[in-house]
Amino acid sequence: MAETAPVVNVLTVDVEEYYHGVEFTTALDAPALAGLPSRVVAQTERLLDVLDAHGARATFFTLGLVAQRFPRLIRSIVTRGHELASHGWDHTPVFQLGEEAFRLDVHRAKHALEHAAGHAVRGYRAPNYSIRHDTPWAYAILAEEGHTYDSSVHPIGHDRYGFPEAPRFVYGVPGHALWEVPVGTARALGTNVPVGGGFFRLFPATLLRSAIASVNRLDQQPLVLYVHPWEFDPAQPRPPMPWLHRFRHYVGLDGAERKLRTLLSAFRFTTIENALGSVRIAPAAAIARAS
Ligand SMILES: [Zn+2]
Repeated sequence: MAETAPVVNVLTVDVEEYYHGVEFTTALDAPALAGLPSRVVAQTERLLDVLDAHGARATFFTLGLVAQRFPRLIRSIVTRGHELASHGWDHTPVFQLGEEAFRLDVHRAKHALEHAAGHAVRGYRAPNYSIRHDTPWAYAILAEEGHTYDSSVHPIGHDRYGFPEAPRFVYGVPGHALWEVPVGTARALGTNVPVGGGFFRLFPATLLRSAIASVNRLDQQPLVLYVHPWEFDPAQPRPPMPWLHRFRHYVGLDGAERKLRTLLSAFRFTTIENALGSVRIAPAAAIARAS
């Protein structure tokens, strides 16, 4: 096989408060959640500094609510060379919203982000990867509202989210003018193994490194890694919650920044927008593109 240029990986950041995480919203009631202090600005600025130090670029899937409250943070993301994208309005899962409320949520978030950034936003990622088989209307709404790609498919088996049979790499969503950019997985023991989020915090850096290298080498594809700004903040509040929720939210916070720096030193990372120009697209894409 001919020598090819090293694959540039993709970094994605879901910009939300630590209490938007699924462990908080399922363990705490509304008054308890409302009493928690905001930390998203400091956490995201800190992460932006880490990315700058390593020359890495990322796609920031950001809540509309965050853009409305903290427009200066949005300008900081954009002026530091990253791609701004939508994570919906307030982190309500798509299957909970239903069709019409989803359209409003998508529209409102896109508008708030574009107002703060001063330019169009193309990408969308559903809260908790909540586009599923029971939300078949979601892709049409995203395309109609002006999104050109979605990154809400996590091709793994999981108790809360996942689309285990979906393709692992970029494809055209059949019947829609929309790309799907699945969240990164590696193959091990005949199954798809997740690499981002809680798994990023749980797995040792050496394992993550070899997972990313194997995707680059064997699949000749970028790995789409995802992290949250709150995952690098061990000082965040720790209200009482059941042990499994506590474990899932707080595991690995202490070592997360060091681990990310290891990966940023070992691999190059860029935005989805940049990567879409060079990736190999699955055949269904040609059909979607022509439609
Ligand atoms: Zn999220």
